[in-house]
Amino acid sequence: MTLPSEADRFWTRSAIDLSRLSPPSPAHYAVGAVVVGPAGNPMATGYTGETDAHFHAEEEALAKLAGRGFDLSGATIYTSLEPCTTRKSRPVSCTELIMASGLRRVVLALREPLRFADCTGVETLLSGGIEVIEIPDLGDAVRDINAHVMGMQTT
Ligand SMILES: [Zn+2]
Repeated sequence: MTLPSEADRFWTRSAIDLSRLSPPSPAHYAVGAVVVGPAGNPMATGYTGETDAHFHAEEEALAKLAGRGFDLSGATIYTSLEPCTTRKSRPVSCTELIMASGLRRVVLALREPLRFADCTGVETLLSGGIEVIEIPDLGDAVRDINAHVMGMQTT
């Protein structure tokens, strides 16, 4: 797997910082996401629960870009947690939204623990030809921010 660049680390930290804005809830993770253009320009940000308690971070960020004619094929979405593949409250997963958006590159800090649903975001994105970069050494911050959820894990 490709190693993350310094810019990848910077924007993943930004996504983690954004996740702190997510209203704490035992029902979902606090996640942040940033879409960054090919020139290193931030295009949109989002965090889980920003406009609706059921909306995920990636969904919030992509909604701000939808229908505006942006070519996202050279952009990257940075997210603090692996994009979901199964959700109870919404018909379309963040993984599907990312693949439909035209984004070809995803950088994340932490894979989703087996807590709410069996998440296969990384595998699904890779099988769709999307580059995925993980920065697991930034995962401790994500675990700390989500201690209210992950603390309930039995594994
Ligand atoms: Zn999601």
